[in-house]
Amino acid sequence: MQVDSVAAIPLSFPLEDGRAFGHARGVMDTRSAMLVRVETTTGEVGYGEALAPPQTTATAVEEVLAPMVEGASPYEVETLTERTHQEAYNLGGGPILQSAVSAVDIALWDLIGKATGEPIYRLLGGQQTEAVTPYASTMYITEWGEDPAEPIERAVEEGFTAAKLKIGRSVEDDVERVATARELLGDDAHLMVDYNGNYRLKQAIQSANALEPYDLTWIEEPVPPEDYTGLRKLTDRVDVPVATGESHFGRFDYKRLIADHGVDIIQPDLGRAGGFSESRFLAKWATTENVAVYPHVWNGAVGVAAALQFAASLPSYPHNENVPEPLLFEFDRSQNPLRDELLDAPLDPTGGSLAVPQGPGLGVSVNEDAVERFRTE
Ligand SMILES: [Mg+2]
Repeated sequence: MQVDSVAAIPLSFPLEDGRAFGHARGVMDTRSAMLVRVETTTGEVGYGEALAPPQTTATAVEEVLAPMVEGASPYEVETLTERTHQEAYNLGGGPILQSAVSAVDIALWDLIGKATGEPIYRLLGGQQTEAVTPYASTMYITEWGEDPAEPIERAVEEGFTAAKLKIGRSVEDDVERVATARELLGDDAHLMVDYNGNYRLKQAIQSANALEPYDLTWIEEPVPPEDYTGLRKLTDRVDVPVATGESHFGRFDYKRLIADHGVDIIQPDLGRAGGFSESRFLAKWATTENVAVYPHVWNGAVGVAAALQFAASLPSYPHNENVPEPLLFEFDRSQNPLRDELLDAPLDPTGGSLAVPQGPGLGVSVNEDAVERFRTE
């Protein structure tokens, strides 16, 4: 099996006027993704996706990665990251190149899965996993001033038993939003909050202390992702688990998060951290420091499918079946047709459970007509 072609496909969807939304550090008016479609000389097709600026990342795929991968076997996927580190030394690397590597890596694993007839999570060493517990990523900061109760009421109606909210504008506002969500979700629900890195260390400590009565499962990016010292101090100072990772791009970024337990939870995004190969490495490494792993998932359909395979592969260390712990899986509830319309059979997170596709590779079928509808040049 040999790779014949690597195509980068930038996708975007502009939101309607007045429907921009986001988090404490700003709102966005466009959804986007960069797909990679890899085809072998025998006509097998694999897909991958990066969560990154689509056109710039597509250029990185075409200019740097396609020449490395075309003519190679998909089984050489594990060497791709190493080779790009070498290339980065000569040319410069960084988040865009790592995101491009992520998309190509996912597509090559999809091909390996299809060639062997196995879902990727099994190839990564995961035990049989039928389903994960999806959590609604919701209660965004919206341009249209949505009542914060509304998205939580919707999530409850849809059967979600866990949710993550956007906070981080002031401690007072944090408490108000979390109190609203806890009341609507009930005491048993897993509830998480996301500051998107908007606080300084002392504000983050004040907020975490003020939210103590609401029994949060984790607090996410309380300080900026590059504030490694702040993350480490916060992890030492507060009881609630501290999570970070969506803005970290591969092992050299993760080094200070994992080493010496710099945070309690890492959250690699498959479309940024380096795909399956690098994220598996990070997960095993995190395990050695007793740091938990919950993937960040804010991608289009291919990226969600990749994250689901990765989540299903994760080791449960140090717990066993005597300590039941739900495999919490992020599912964004904001508007994104790149997530909802690109698959022949969309993934359905409602009802409190999300099935892990058991078919070969990513286990999903990409609708190529839909891809063309959202292609941007
Ligand atoms: Mg986040």
